Amino acid sequence: MAGHTKSGTNLLDRTSQFGAAVGDDGIVRCDACPVLCRIKPGRSGACDRYANEDGKLIRCESLYVTQRTLADHSDADTSEKTEQMFVTGIGAGTTYPDYKPAPFIVSSEIDGVDTVTVVTEGIFSFCGLKLKIDTDRHLGDECSPVRHKGEQVGHVTTTEYGSQMLSLGGVRHLTGGERKEGRLTCEALLALCNKEAVELEIDDGAKIEVQAGRAPIVNGVVEQRMRVGCGSAVVGIFAQQWFGLVDEVIVVDDHITGQLSPHQAGVCLDMRPTGIRLKGRKSTPGRYFNVAHPGSGWGGTDIQNPLDIIDRIDPKLAWPGMRVLFTSTTGEHSLYYTLNSDFELIAEDTPSEVQTVVDRLGENCEASMTTVLFMAGAGGSLRAGFTTNPIQLTRAVVDGQVQVSMGGVPVYRYPGGGITIMVDVLDLPENAFGYVPTPALVAPLEFELPMALYEDCGGHVEQAVRAQEVIDQLGEDLRADSPFKVVSSNG
Ligand code: SF4
Repeated sequence: MAGHTKSGTNLLDRTSQFGAAVGDDGIVRCDACPVLCRIKPGRSGACDRYANEDGKLIRCESLYVTQRTLADHSDADTSEKTEQMFVTGIGAGTTYPDYKPAPFIVSSEIDGVDTVTVVTEGIFSFCGLKLKIDTDRHLGDECSPVRHKGEQVGHVTTTEYGSQMLSLGGVRHLTGGERKEGRLTCEALLALCNKEAVELEIDDGAKIEVQAGRAPIVNGVVEQRMRVGCGSAVVGIFAQQWFGLVDEVIVVDDHITGQLSPHQAGVCLDMRPTGIRLKGRKSTPGRYFNVAHPGSGWGGTDIQNPLDIIDRIDPKLAWPGMRVLFTSTTGEHSLYYTLNSDFELIAEDTPSEVQTVVDRLGENCEASMTTVLFMAGAGGSLRAGFTTNPIQLTRAVVDGQVQVSMGGVPVYRYPGGGITIMVDVLDLPENAFGYVPTPALVAPLEFELPMALYEDCGGHVEQAVRAQEVIDQLGEDLRADSPFKVVSSNG
């Protein structure tokens, strides 16, 4: 077990929420999760979240209290904004499974309505990440295993418009396989949730380094641009700007490769057919599927030389001197050719006015980045910390009467039954996530609803305390970056 240095919150003194047997040897037993660590004085438990400080069980991280702005609608003419403190689940602690009321049940008045916020740390076995990685480069075939330090932690899922998607974690990898698989899955998820970089490898695919809010690194290359659109879309967007400067444009794309002259955009401009026929499967005029294999070359294909996608050039239609531009969907690759009298395409310097349009294509690309979305099911015993009748919470959430947030950030709730939620980890404060070795992720969770509804739901209303009381009681134990640390009446 690791030593600990942080001063934390004395849970025994604070709420009496957590049982902790203290033996003659000063060992404290933590019962915040089924691991039931026996913690020696001055040491922390297996998850590094709880520690034994002088025979008392403490939560190593302090509570994070944020602030939010509320509009005061009491007088429409003098509508003002007021700041309100909001106790989050970060550092709140909990038991797992939940067999006691949530650690903080905070009452306040919002727009004249008595409101309660039930604050806890959810411990999630049913959780995972959806990674959106902005790149055209082929990362791996759909359903391919994604590995972290050799263990499968997820798989490649659908490609979206300009992004490759990975699905990581989930209960099968966390608890359904060997112990090492679960441990490394938990490790990768936790690091990504806390905005750290993680290396992943895809079977028969790429090695990547991903981090929330940062450009992905694919096979050692930092990705720069997210494409404007597919090859057909690029043709449509820039057709008029290329018209007159070139006789043909071919936009190489693993999805739809676009060819200007037969494309509807070229037909509308009365462009002369160039007789160039591409490989692959023609979809509609000027739009081709499967011109090459997926890869890390032009437009997410394995193409390094764009002439490789030409099937034939019809000499009855083509003419010497014909000007042909090839570009990728991001403009990072482009080459300009003219047709000689032997009907061969010869590379030449790109004329500056043509290059200007290619540069415009690049300018229209957004910067590549990785988005990490945390997704979890907030059901099961977690609801017992909220109410004696858990279905009441589920119904109230499904009916939209309860605002669900994580670290003060409103979450997206999936439609249908249950409390299945999703949030962008970038929106949360730093180090908002933890873990327990079962293994499962620990994440802050708050339910906010009118006090009257909380009573109807069978809530633990007798446990409610005012937010200011929480802050006064915790004083120095609020997290250092809590915006409301400074307003404690103690300090
Ligand atoms: S793993 Fe953490 S939460 Fe679980 S018993 Fe040990 S110290 Fe407590």
